[in-house]
Amino acid sequence: MTEMERKLQRTESKRAAPSRNTDAALLARCAQLSARYLDRSALPVSVRWVPPMRTRWASCTPVDKTIRVSERLRQVPAWVLDYVLVHELAHLRVAGHDAEFWELVRRYPKTERAIGYLEGLSAAAGWGISELDAED
Ligand SMILES: [Zn+2]
Repeated sequence: MTEMERKLQRTESKRAAPSRNTDAALLARCAQLSARYLDRSALPVSVRWVPPMRTRWASCTPVDKTIRVSERLRQVPAWVLDYVLVHELAHLRVAGHDAEFWELVRRYPKTERAIGYLEGLSAAAGWGISELDAED
């Protein structure tokens, strides 16, 4: 391993700090993202990591304001996970995927890049996940 590779590896492990991998960290991140992009209007009661789901990355139940995030997303870059959280937070306000919904989600500037990242990840891993979520 070269010195440069070692340096990169250290940076990577720092970025994937274990603190983000708890349910409490997800909830705290949701509060930050809601304040930044959604006028604090969307706050879940709970956000939990759940075992990989077959057809989706995450899900949201607006009626009890709960969000579940697939453990397959534990390893993605923070900006991709942020997109997933903003998407699910927006569902607390708008249930479906209509124009009003996407207007909210696209306040998060890396939305299109994150969608592309997730499509590529699913294709590369052979998971066949074509949509972020489905309504409960
Ligand atoms: Zn959705």
